[in-house]
Amino acid sequence: MLRSLFLAAAGSARLERLVESAPVSKGVVQRFVAGRGADDVLRVSRELVDDGLTVSLDHLGEDTRTVEQAVATRDEYLAVLARLRGAGLTPAAEVSVKLSALGQRIDEKLAYEHARAICAAATEAGTTVTLDAEDHSTTDATLETLVELRRDFPSTGAVLQAHLRRTEGDCRELATAGSRVRLCKGAYAEPESVAFQSALDVDKSFVRCLNILMSGEGYPMVATHDPRLIAIAEDRARWFDRSTGEYEFQLLYGVRPEEQGRLAAGGNTVRIYLPYGDQWYGYLMRRLAERPANVGFVVRAMASRK
Ligand SMILES: Cc1cc2nc3c(=O)[nH]c(=O)nc-3n(C[C@H](O)[C@H](O)[C@H](O)COP(=O)(O)OP(=O)(O)OC[C@H]3O[C@@H](n4cnc5c(N)ncnc54)[C@H](O)[C@@H]3O)c2cc1C
Repeated sequence: MLRSLFLAAAGSARLERLVESAPVSKGVVQRFVAGRGADDVLRVSRELVDDGLTVSLDHLGEDTRTVEQAVATRDEYLAVLARLRGAGLTPAAEVSVKLSALGQRIDEKLAYEHARAICAAATEAGTTVTLDAEDHSTTDATLETLVELRRDFPSTGAVLQAHLRRTEGDCRELATAGSRVRLCKGAYAEPESVAFQSALDVDKSFVRCLNILMSGEGYPMVATHDPRLIAIAEDRARWFDRSTGEYEFQLLYGVRPEEQGRLAAGGNTVRIYLPYGDQWYGYLMRRLAERPANVGFVVRAMASRK
């Protein structure tokens, strides 16, 4: 119930204006977002890398409606990659991009060209790009763009969402040598026709997908905070004889930091998804949708302001 409310709120421009101007928002945002600009995200990246973690930077923003905005997003990625390189943070730091932020809904070719420029800059900087997964209406177009990009940039990462019914098949397609695949549950509200609706069905799908990726030839990136799924991933890695460099765990900035440390201390590669930028609203609403305790955090932040 709460989940659908927050996911619906993620698409409301009116609510967005209201939440953005609320004084309480600052504290809540800080927990999940590195800051507004490149200086902030570089500082936080340095701290995380010094703690033995790796990062994937996400410049917040999605569903870009103008070419100017799409170009600005591309340029932001080019600039931050140059700065990461200059700071010696690559390859520990890579970037995650949303094709919708690069203009996918305006013109797929435009988004592809922008993603290509980012992949070229990442290669130059000695690091990689992962294409985030968005709602199911974009999955085909995103996976087609991935195939195109991988011709010249084979390390480009894919993201597959276990809640989509199609994902087991996509895992089979993508479990090939050198293929970097992030597996997550899926953060968008989807209809029953395309997605499993119950948490149990999503978890079962996650495990089936994990089995395919771990037994395949690619590089699985296990993106979850779920203790049961993390334990199953550790078990499958042992079962399929993968050493710690042959898969990685990924968690969101600000979520279960103690678990991030535990996994890294165990010798695992742990990548923190690190968002930054002004457009934090949709991202924050999806995080609130995922966990009632995060809502409690908002309420506590509000109370402490009185
Ligand atoms: C690195 C990364 C990248 C992602 N990229 C994408 C993407 O490209 N596209 C997309 O659609 N989605 C993406 N997601 C989001 C993902 O799809 C889920 O919506 C999100 O991760 C929540 O699912 P979960 O697997 O953590 O499990 P949940 O079902 O949210 O949580 C399961 C359990 O994990 C534990 N847990 C979760 N959160 C907390 C917390 N704050 N504190 C303590 N325990 C907690 C609890 O035990 C909880 O019961 C990404 C997630 C990660 C981690």
